[in-house]
Amino acid sequence: GDAAVLEALQHADAARLLPVPGAESDKYRRGVVGIAAGSARYPGAAVLAVSGALRGGAGAVRYVGPAGDAVIARFPETLVSDRGPKRAGRVQAWVVGPGAGDDAATVAEVVAADVPVLIDADGLRLVDVGAVRARTAPTLLTPHAGEAAALLGVSREEVEAARLSSARELAARYRATVLLKGSTTLVAAPDGGPVRANATGTSWLATAGSGDVLSGLAGSLLASGLPARDAGSVAAYLHGLAGRHAADGAPVGAHDVAEALPGVWRDVR
Ligand code: AMP
Ligand code: MG
Repeated sequence: GDAAVLEALQHADAARLLPVPGAESDKYRRGVVGIAAGSARYPGAAVLAVSGALRGGAGAVRYVGPAGDAVIARFPETLVSDRGPKRAGRVQAWVVGPGAGDDAATVAEVVAADVPVLIDADGLRLVDVGAVRARTAPTLLTPHAGEAAALLGVSREEVEAARLSSARELAARYRATVLLKGSTTLVAAPDGGPVRANATGTSWLATAGSGDVLSGLAGSLLASGLPARDAGSVAAYLHGLAGRHAADGAPVGAHDVAEALPGVWRDVR
């Protein structure tokens, strides 16, 4: 049954995997995460993805896209570039897609990069499956059930009724690690090994922008060197706990979840 192929990340696993800079580390060794997200219509998605990335362990966050002013106003430590991803400078992992609107060219440029790439939200709608399959560096896809359904060409109900096989099927089709979001989040690797299930979250996380924070966080963990499966499952673990801490039984906004991440990180270590 499903139990045989499911495993849960334990507290000790998360503690061991958290990237902690050594005494001689510097910001480049910690990793630079690139965020290609946001649009004139959805600048907030860029801000939220950056907010997650800043709390994910990378030494620097680089932003490319049309929401640079909004990002800088909120997070002055962000390296903002008005060039495309290809000419943005050193990046160890990319996040592409949150609030990206219809910018297929940027998605294609990021997918062509030879570093780990996380694709979320609009990026999942715009990406070419052949281009993802052709990648040699790791790819992490982070759909919710509706986005997974669109990628598989089935209904959302069908994905909800078969979440485990849907995640595995997507991982095989895209040759990518798939993080299928929901009340329980599943992380399936393309090698067909055990699927990690995470249930640290709370239904208060079902709020606009929550997934954008997760994407930035997971991208930052990728940039600091974690394999896609670990980056995805550690991100889901921390994000779920941050949702619990931030909400504590009351409604919160996605930015509150991001702000709760450092406290969760301290508790896990
Ligand atoms: P998105 O739909 O992209 O904004 O992502 C929503 C985030 O909230 C994901 O991390 C989900 O796993 C999480 N989430 C949504 N609904 C629930 C729920 N009912 N219980 C726990 N986590 C949830
Ligand atoms: Mg989303």
